Amino acid sequence: MLSAVMEDYIKAVYTIGNETGERVSTSALADYLDVTPPTVSSMVKKLEERGLVDREEYKGVTLTEEGEVVALEILRHHRLLESFLTEALDYDWADVHDEADRLEHHVSDELTDRIAEALGHPLADPHGDPIPTRELELPDAGETARLSAAERGERLVVRRIRHQGDEELRYLAEAGVEPNEALEVVDVAPFGMVTVRTAAGEQSLPEEIARLIETVPAEEEAEPAA
Ligand SMILES: [Zn+2]
Repeated sequence: MLSAVMEDYIKAVYTIGNETGERVSTSALADYLDVTPPTVSSMVKKLEERGLVDREEYKGVTLTEEGEVVALEILRHHRLLESFLTEALDYDWADVHDEADRLEHHVSDELTDRIAEALGHPLADPHGDPIPTRELELPDAGETARLSAAERGERLVVRRIRHQGDEELRYLAEAGVEPNEALEVVDVAPFGMVTVRTAAGEQSLPEEIARLIETVPAEEEAEPAA
């Protein structure tokens, strides 16, 4: 059995590694998990002993095949819990992450499978994150572009909101930036601030927030599904 903390580290290595395509450094993990580098080092050592991560001095860590299985299992738990909370229990999409973060370590694969079954095997959670299948395959999320790379005048539909907590989700919900909703890029400032027009009005989003938002062109959205 792995502890909830170990599982959180594995999830962090998976998420950061996917984002950067590189080995994950101790300092990146410390930043992400909001702990000190020495804390990261001692936990990484434990994970290495269990064969879950592969560590190279000065280069950082990657997940082993076994570690990757653990990461996908937790993501399946997390994303199905978020789907269940919004669809079956009427939670708001911006209020489910922290709850799922706590529960993901404690639900069995059996319960997770039953949730999937009850929801009709959804391919994505309420934030557009793909849900690993029972065989731990990730459904293809399709091609998207980050809002941080958008240009003035573009009309876009939000496909996926990467997130680490309810705080940023609530911030975006208030700004009218919601999954599957349209927005228009009003302005992009030289240092990355993106101003968008949503149903809630005009909002300026800092670059680090705009980077979390994956979009598709609004036109594409209007086309009937093949
Ligand atoms: Zn989440």
